[in-house]
Amino acid sequence: MSTKLQGVRGMNDLLPDEAERWEAFEEIVRDWLKSYGYRPIRSPIVEPTALFHRGVGEHTDIVEKEMYSFEDRLNGEQLTLRPEGTASCVRSVIEHNLLFQNSQRLYYSGPMFRHERPQKGRYRQFHQVGVEALGFAGPDIDAEHIVMCRRLWDDLGLEDVELQLNSLGDAAERATHRAELIAYLERHQDQLDEDGKRRLHANPLRVLDTKNPALQDIVDAAPKLLDYLGAESLKHFEAVQAMLREAAVPYRINPRLVRGLDYYNRTVFEWTTTRLGAQATFCAGGRYDSLIEQLGGRASPACGFAMGMERVMLLWQDGLEAGSLVSPDLYVVHQGERAQPFAFRAAELLRSAGFAVVFHCGGGGFKSQMKKADASGAAFAVIVGDDEAAAGMLALKPLREAGEQVSLAPEAAAEWLAERLYGDDEA
Ligand code: ATP
Ligand code: MG
Repeated sequence: MSTKLQGVRGMNDLLPDEAERWEAFEEIVRDWLKSYGYRPIRSPIVEPTALFHRGVGEHTDIVEKEMYSFEDRLNGEQLTLRPEGTASCVRSVIEHNLLFQNSQRLYYSGPMFRHERPQKGRYRQFHQVGVEALGFAGPDIDAEHIVMCRRLWDDLGLEDVELQLNSLGDAAERATHRAELIAYLERHQDQLDEDGKRRLHANPLRVLDTKNPALQDIVDAAPKLLDYLGAESLKHFEAVQAMLREAAVPYRINPRLVRGLDYYNRTVFEWTTTRLGAQATFCAGGRYDSLIEQLGGRASPACGFAMGMERVMLLWQDGLEAGSLVSPDLYVVHQGERAQPFAFRAAELLRSAGFAVVFHCGGGGFKSQMKKADASGAAFAVIVGDDEAAAGMLALKPLREAGEQVSLAPEAAAEWLAERLYGDDEA
């Protein structure tokens, strides 16, 4: 026997019990997005590397050390497995001119790739649902995004979640703050770690986003961007907060919240939980008014957010019983030369009538087939022997509750089952 192959570290298989939970989650998420008028967009998983250098920022963790980048062997193109979805979404919107005379409410969902150290809630392939509203300048859409998140957490029954909110102001305000921040960090240069030293001049705001606990005191005492906001930025920030109060969404202003990506301005927010250890943030977003222009589109304001599906799924853990979701309605058990084709046709008829039907494959005696029927979780076994086939009848046996076995012709069986399973005559 040759050696067993293993998947890539940090890239997970979702086995059926878990994959069913994901599908249930995805269904809830789709309904939720529709209820706010968002439309799907799907872009490729591979993009030109330059997109993320320009769109995410050179001095971010993602671009500095987390991207899966490679050269296409056939034509030498520099490509990257997308580490996040906003840059791709914006690229696509620009490329296809979707903002022409129109704002857009969009969402995407799918795998993202970052080369990080795998641990609970942190993987190398992970999944995001992202929401982007392009062409909207006002604070109302920022508030809409936050309120819609709140609704989803409520729909899912998530507990122990907190909203952290901050404003990053505009470019000029950030420039003033940046100069002060650099001066401050230079005074504490000897206490900074390697990342901190390197980013001090290139991107000092990112020093504040450090996860190094040794730097917390320096970060805490650093000049706060919030103190540098001008009238317009403050007005926007106040308006967002007023709408959150209106919608009764509690929040905490965190002046140190800067977000890991370079493209944000004004409103930024994170949803955090105490339940996931170091992976506390499970959803994050904000406004990025300069990104579209930065990626070659006509200047247009925008904002959005993305949730990490693995982290949300971990929080939703108690929401559902594993494996309880997708049991078939019926399991067709059959034995005999004449029984097989009759049972096969009956299974199709029952599916046409709307039932989920597993047709037994692989032979075996009635007894072992009935065991499989029971294990499948089906509500009824549909039993066909040569006698039933000759008479054109199906024997129906309840598997989940007491009750006599009944014999009916296929059409009548469908009606009888519909009444038992759905409590009416229509399947
Ligand atoms: P973190 O600070 O945890 O590294 P981040 O700031 O890099 O997160 P974002 O780029 O804002 O994360 O991505 C949005 C969300 O995607 C995060 O809040 C998180 O839920 C999820 N996420 C990010 N990286 C990973 C990962 N490696 N594995 C699982 N989920 C992730
Ligand atoms: Mg990260």
